[in-house]
Amino acid sequence: MARIVMKFGGTSVADIPRIRNVARHVKREIDAGHEVAVVVSAMAGKTNELVAWVQDASRQEGSSLNLYDAREYDAVVASGEQVTAGLLALVLQAMGINARSWQGWQIPIRTDSAHGAARIEDIDGSDLVRRFGEGQVAVITGFQGIGPDKRIATLGRGGSDTSAVAVAAALKADRCDIYTDVDGVYTTDPRIEPKARRLSRISFEEMLEMASLGAKVLQVRSVELAMVHKVRTFVRSSFEDPDAPGMGDFDNPPGTLICDEDEIVEQQVVTGIAYAKDEAQISLRRVADRPGVAAGIFGPMAEANINVDMIVQNISEDGSRTDMTFTVPSGDVARALAVLEKNKASVGFDVVQHETGMTKVSVIGIGMRSHAGVAATAFKALAEKGINIRAITTSEIKISILIDGPYAELAVRTLHSVYGLDKQ
Ligand code: ADP
Ligand code: ASP
Ligand code: MG
Repeated sequence: MARIVMKFGGTSVADIPRIRNVARHVKREIDAGHEVAVVVSAMAGKTNELVAWVQDASRQEGSSLNLYDAREYDAVVASGEQVTAGLLALVLQAMGINARSWQGWQIPIRTDSAHGAARIEDIDGSDLVRRFGEGQVAVITGFQGIGPDKRIATLGRGGSDTSAVAVAAALKADRCDIYTDVDGVYTTDPRIEPKARRLSRISFEEMLEMASLGAKVLQVRSVELAMVHKVRTFVRSSFEDPDAPGMGDFDNPPGTLICDEDEIVEQQVVTGIAYAKDEAQISLRRVADRPGVAAGIFGPMAEANINVDMIVQNISEDGSRTDMTFTVPSGDVARALAVLEKNKASVGFDVVQHETGMTKVSVIGIGMRSHAGVAATAFKALAEKGINIRAITTSEIKISILIDGPYAELAVRTLHSVYGLDKQ
């Protein structure tokens, strides 16, 4: 007997027939004698709908700003998971399985106070474990917990992945299975490149880069938690027949295992390509070239919680003035410009220019550590397709390139093919 956490995303619980299908996956593991905690997302599209309602309800007359109370945002958007948890518990009960739903506060899953983007601080798994002893299946709402103010707090979009891994860590589960609408982690988003291949394993480090550079198959924080707590995490499909041969294989279920680097036998130089749309580029022209300028620009950005990503500073031509370019998510441009304007006098720059609609494409692979020329290959391949590069950043295991949005798909496919990722 083992203890398993099974997480089902929005498309997997999009309607009652799909929830019934999810219940069959759960039944398979129960029949095999395992203790099971299920974590569910809201039905596909539901969270977006709830977010739109929040924005609509909080619109102030005569103002283009849309400021709202993050605690009430959480109260509204967390409701989608409450519905699916209850429905799955009902379907399981109708199949003769002892099951009950749990909301974040009932367990409790304790978070910090950052409403809308809260971090899980602690999970008390004792009640769940006691109920396992009584043969009960726990169906847990993903995406939510309870903050220090005793109010519901949500974990940021895609947060049910994090709920699942955190619950698995708290319960010392033997496995955490993330069921979604693809049958694993691919070399790139299979929606953009049909030639993408499924990876049987990917290292925590690479998965962390893939997720933070745009591959939304797992929320970044869930990968961090899996890495730190050594949770054996698989990404697999909920759409396969729950009773097909091999689906219940305990050690080698179908899908992608996220694991330590040394568990991967044949390491490729490049493992995957990720992309993030809706990036914006902001340039400060003729900035004073003196110590403290970067701190003067990016300090206030950090205080305003604006996520600055790629930063490029030009060499000053005359020794006194330079240009500084950086990227932020498009949604943060207005706030970033306001912060810059406020600090214009102390920073000292001439003009600020901005452009939205950029895409960041990234090449990821642990093998890059020991191979030269990986970046040059990308630059050459993009040049051959006439794709202009606006900014570049690199780390030990990734290269990120900023390009104009309309070239995103072409760039992803070009890079995917130039590193041979479409070949077996
Ligand atoms: P869920 O609702 O189950 O959480 P998501 O939509 O959040 O599912 O994540 C699954 C989606 O992630 C897939 O449909 C796929 O389009 C996308 N995706 C992006 N990059 C990758 C990748 N490298 N491998 C697999 N899926 C990816
Ligand atoms: N329902 C939430 C969202 O759409 C959480 C999740 O699906 O992981 O972001
Ligand atoms: Mg998701």
